[in-house]
Amino acid sequence: MADEIAKTPETNEAELTGATTRRRPKPDIMEISGRKLKPATLMMGHGYDPALSEGSLKPPIFLTSTFAFESAAAGKRHFEGVTGIRPGGSEGLIYSRFNGPNQEIAEDRLAVWEDADDALLFSSGMSAIATTLLALVQPGDVIVHSAPLYAATEGLIGRILGKFGVQWMDFPAGATEEDIGAVVKAAQAKGRVAMIYLESPANPTNVLVDVEAVVARRDFLFAGEAHQPPIVIDNTFLGPLWHKPLAHGADLVVYSLTKYAGGHSDLVAGGALGKQKLVDAIRMMRNTIGTILDPHSAWMLLRSLETLELRMSRAGENAAKVCAWLRDQPQVEKIVYLGFPSDARQQDIYDRHCTGAGSTFSLYLKGGEAESFAFLDALKIAKLAVSLGGTETLASHPAAMTHLSVPAERKKALDIGDNMVRISIGCEDADDLIADFAQALQAVG
Ligand code: PLP
Repeated sequence: MADEIAKTPETNEAELTGATTRRRPKPDIMEISGRKLKPATLMMGHGYDPALSEGSLKPPIFLTSTFAFESAAAGKRHFEGVTGIRPGGSEGLIYSRFNGPNQEIAEDRLAVWEDADDALLFSSGMSAIATTLLALVQPGDVIVHSAPLYAATEGLIGRILGKFGVQWMDFPAGATEEDIGAVVKAAQAKGRVAMIYLESPANPTNVLVDVEAVVARRDFLFAGEAHQPPIVIDNTFLGPLWHKPLAHGADLVVYSLTKYAGGHSDLVAGGALGKQKLVDAIRMMRNTIGTILDPHSAWMLLRSLETLELRMSRAGENAAKVCAWLRDQPQVEKIVYLGFPSDARQQDIYDRHCTGAGSTFSLYLKGGEAESFAFLDALKIAKLAVSLGGTETLASHPAAMTHLSVPAERKKALDIGDNMVRISIGCEDADDLIADFAQALQAVG
């Protein structure tokens, strides 16, 4: 806690947490002659005025823990704003656990991709998710979620929030509207449904969630009620280019920005964006527990966002070529890739929600662990590492790595077999990648 926020009997919780809202001038041009500028254009300058930084074309990195007030009265005014004594949020920057210029510029740019009211940056994807859950969930509440979720998210909801009396219920990612409705209704009988939390596509099954169906059921089941559970979705695998859940009725999107948004496998970051009221509640929690991203990583993220569309488009095109080639190879049992939807329902969800199939997929080889390891060890271009969404192609073995501790039955249910290899395609030349996979498949037999 900043020294200047000393806890006195008069200070209430809002004063200690502080709902900062960006109040610095936005000098941007967002449209020209009635034409709304596209995210790819806005990524080069939105939210930054060089005149505020000695004309520096690019934002400097603001390495400071605190900000000097122009006068005592200004400091008081900022605190009145940050504590909610005066509505409208803080007019200026106060302390770097609350925010800073690099984070604010990157937050403004991130929000552009999904037309979000506002965005927040975090020190990792997990800290974005944890801060969101802490802000929106109370003891006794029920979280309804799609399954499976990223393993750490499942652990956070089931094991950690469970310690504080939070309950959960889940439905399979590909569930029908009726089945989703039945689970939400059963959850209503258990307690206050704090939120409906989704991950689409599910990791590592690549099954898409019908966000529109979830929204329809939520609106139906909670019609006229004071509390409408927000729909929160982890959009790490397809966003923000190929899937924009806010446009389909979700209220909040969370991200591991470590993946496609960061895009170079050189930073760890998270994001939350969406409706202002939710973002403000999460910001208050972030201010309290200090899960904000550091200025240097925020600056790196700014640079990454400039090339986001180029990188993701190229990776997506590469993956389409590689998957079309891989699926015909004799050593390959099957490929689970969004470009080859598994059934009519998945095809329908894909057609309504997605503008691209992404570049992360699962390759099932004929054989087991020995064949998978032989393939992975023979790769020359693709690197053997977990994670995804970087400029370089990565390959890993979920059963022996990311999902090693998952019980055998659950692995079976999720189709995480010993013959499964997870691949994230990067921005290399697609034919070079095919040559690499071709020679590695020879090692399989
Ligand atoms: N959500 C998904 C879908 C992920 O794949 C990951 C990480 O792999 C996370 C969240 C957590 O992100 P981070 O590693 O940035 O904390």
